[in-house]
Amino acid sequence: MAKFVLIGSGLAGGLLAAYLGRRGYEVDLYERRSDPREGNLVGGRSINLALSTRGIHALEQIGIADEVLKHAIPMRGRMIHPAAAGSAPIFAPYDVDPNKHINSIGRAALNTTVIEAAQRYPNVRVHFNHKCTDVDLDSATANLLNSSTSQQLNASGDAVIGVDGAFSAVRQSMQLKIDNFQYDESYLAHGYKELTIPPGPNASWRMEKEALHIWPRKSFMMIALPNPDGSFTCTLFWEFEGPRSFATTKTDDDIRRFFCEEFPDAVPLMPNLLDDFKNNPTGSLVTIRCAPWFYKDKVALVGDAAHAVVPFYGQGMNAAFEDCVVLDECLAEFPQDRQRALAEYFRRRKENADALADLALENFIEMRDKTASRTFRAKKKLDHFLEAALPGIYLPLYTMVTFTRIPYAQAAKRARFQDRVIYGSLVGVIVVLIGLLALAFT
Ligand SMILES: Cc1cc2nc3c(=O)[nH]c(=O)nc-3n(C[C@H](O)[C@H](O)[C@H](O)COP(=O)(O)OP(=O)(O)OC[C@H]3O[C@@H](n4cnc5c(N)ncnc54)[C@H](O)[C@@H]3O)c2cc1C
Repeated sequence: MAKFVLIGSGLAGGLLAAYLGRRGYEVDLYERRSDPREGNLVGGRSINLALSTRGIHALEQIGIADEVLKHAIPMRGRMIHPAAAGSAPIFAPYDVDPNKHINSIGRAALNTTVIEAAQRYPNVRVHFNHKCTDVDLDSATANLLNSSTSQQLNASGDAVIGVDGAFSAVRQSMQLKIDNFQYDESYLAHGYKELTIPPGPNASWRMEKEALHIWPRKSFMMIALPNPDGSFTCTLFWEFEGPRSFATTKTDDDIRRFFCEEFPDAVPLMPNLLDDFKNNPTGSLVTIRCAPWFYKDKVALVGDAAHAVVPFYGQGMNAAFEDCVVLDECLAEFPQDRQRALAEYFRRRKENADALADLALENFIEMRDKTASRTFRAKKKLDHFLEAALPGIYLPLYTMVTFTRIPYAQAAKRARFQDRVIYGSLVGVIVVLIGLLALAFT
């Protein structure tokens, strides 16, 4: 059986190792960090994430969805916190079907579960504390540095797969080697910072538990996702620079004033606000597009390494998990021709990753600005009405992206078509009504 060298045991790396192990391949998985079971922070990214249908499907295929969902908290809709002090939050369900929800899960626990799923296969070996420095593409050899011993070593296989995240070393080697390798990275002017709302008495939740909380403030926003211990992880998405920004908010007074002005209902729930704000890092938000995602039958990219997106649709990990499903299908379809399998995987995924990148950027504007408006909530109600009235015919974009496995590009295209038909018809009806009224009064 062929041997795969995988670089990166983040969310997608662990899952892909399990998929490849299940097919009987030899797998060596190298991760630069130490074992997450030793209590180390995973990835330095968000502490919790929203898991939805695509990701759950990928976990189901490998038999670990129930294990993961045991620790999840369902989020049934958005809880919008208005800016005006004293205004009550407004709940907007995600779907007309109250059983449809997204799931808040802890990154560390999920990472451990996928790694353990991979390690159930005796043909999968996981090596922590091994950083990949570069890859020799033609010989499918990864050069590595063991951070425990400071020794350099290399790992060869029939193919190397880069599952090493947005700043992939495998992708960098492809950039250097492949003529006309297309690469584009773009950063938002906003960064993000994680803050905490600790549990209430007896590990209770101090806000509605089964919701994704949003404080939309036009050019910026804060969100909060629930954790099983009763706490919430809040994330502030805010401009790096500008008159009111991370750059200008440094002193205790600045921080307190900003939060009291913008998030007055959250401040009493955040006793550690000042320490969290000053000590937690400010992360950047990048979109990465590149092509191709493979080199001959020797190298491929999966997950953020191929297509990092901004987090506003809650789909980066879900899409990375979907990559694993599609790559596994392609390897099964073309067992004797790995180059064809890798090319087919790239062909099936690329336009969908590009579509998701656009959707995620657009959803930032929707979350930080539009969710606060009555028009947005009316549009959501109309969406849900049409979904119930025209079952199987009308599907809101959010529903297609989050609660189905309709490819992202197809979902985006269908939503544009639906909008044209529905809003075109509404305009038509209004024009006819105005015409009739005009006739009645002449
Ligand atoms: C603030 C924020 C919130 C998010 N929320 C959501 C959400 O709600 N839902 C969702 O679906 N997605 C979300 N995402 C996106 C999600 O985090 C990523 O899409 C997902 O982690 C991608 O998985 P991955 O395995 O491709 O990469 P990663 O999880 O980044 O894993 C890459 C792994 O490779 C290792 N590595 C890196 N370089 C090397 C090297 N040179 N050698 C060896 N190992 C290496 C890293 O240590 C890491 O373990 C969010 C992202 C951010 C930033």
